[in-house]
Amino acid sequence: MLKIMAVNAGSSSLKFKLYEMPNEFVITEGVVERIGKEDAYYTIKVNGEKVKQVLPIKDHAVAVKVLLDDLVDKGIVKDLNEINGVGHRVVQGGSYFKDSALIDQEVIDKIDEMSSLAPLHNPANLTGINAFMKVLPNVPHVAVFDTSFHQTMEKEAYMYALPYEWFEKYKIRKYGFHGTSHKYVSLKAAEVLGKKPEEVNLITCHIGNGASIAAIKEGKCVDTSMGLTPLEGIPMGTRSGDIDPAIIEMMCRTENLTASEVIDILNKKSGYLGVSGISNDSRDLEKAMNEGNERAKLALDLQYKRIADYIGAYFLTLGRLDAIVFTAGIGENSAHTRKEILNRVKALGVEVDTDANENGKGIRDISTKDSKVKAFVIPTDEEIMIARDTVRLGKLQ
Ligand code: AMP
Repeated sequence: MLKIMAVNAGSSSLKFKLYEMPNEFVITEGVVERIGKEDAYYTIKVNGEKVKQVLPIKDHAVAVKVLLDDLVDKGIVKDLNEINGVGHRVVQGGSYFKDSALIDQEVIDKIDEMSSLAPLHNPANLTGINAFMKVLPNVPHVAVFDTSFHQTMEKEAYMYALPYEWFEKYKIRKYGFHGTSHKYVSLKAAEVLGKKPEEVNLITCHIGNGASIAAIKEGKCVDTSMGLTPLEGIPMGTRSGDIDPAIIEMMCRTENLTASEVIDILNKKSGYLGVSGISNDSRDLEKAMNEGNERAKLALDLQYKRIADYIGAYFLTLGRLDAIVFTAGIGENSAHTRKEILNRVKALGVEVDTDANENGKGIRDISTKDSKVKAFVIPTDEEIMIARDTVRLGKLQ
């Protein structure tokens, strides 16, 4: 049996899951938060129980040391040599990475180069990679990119109608994100349909605090709603999604803001939060809506409409559709969201089974027997994809 660590390093956090492979058993999981602070949090699950500590954690290297020492102290591994490989989530792989990659100096340099496209994410991902490689230098480390699954898009789908030199000089194009999640749920959906991935056409809706839709034709992504950055597409918890770009110039002028300040508002103070003025959390908005709050209802409805619009457009792109798939925090848990979206796309021949939509857990079909297009809920699992790719590219089988 192998022990594989799946890591997701953010700017001030580091999430981890330790797997036994190939049986995909989760040995332990946890997170270090508020890295850089005197009172950082370190949480780890031991025998299903969460254990939380507050302690100073200066940087990612210290976070990795705390975590690995603790795995040994708690007897989860006897010594660190038991860890056979580490997989790292990397947000932006640009056009270079069409698949996950075994990390060497060249891969590190490319991830670094791609930081110009993802200045908030790639440097944080690299910090995690460097910290783990220092402590575990003799095992394979594998980078798994959010963008890889979308690299099959044709030029007409990924190009913007902008001066062509911007693409040539600055690599400005649509990349798409959440690729690992869209890939995972699309493989599962094919399984549920009893077919091979290359036999099915799907629209996958990853609706969490961040949200994106993907059109998948015969197992390959042909379009997705996020763009150069995760800001494009449907409205999200705090992001606006698509807007008229002229709004940016107008708000710079009228409120005396810089373009960066406006973009910050589009990323952090828009979406559910901006429209409702209440919260970025769908549960708070559904509660407020049920109590009669009109703006909470509007914040939700305008997202549902935009998602339905994307589904309609992607249906035409695909020509034939086997299933619509819902995943991530909201897609998996909010029956209201699924019902509202599916009712808006009824014309495609999808019919909701109310009981299945409102009750049940895990992977399930929420469409009626006669529904021409199926609708599924499929809980996502990006970490298992990271662990699988670490085994595959680290040649650990
Ligand atoms: P994620 O980014 O995938 O973790 O998703 C976060 C979103 O999922 C938040 O808006 C949560 O409100 C939402 N969420 C999580 N659990 C539920 C639930 N039981 N019902 C509705 N929304 C939920």
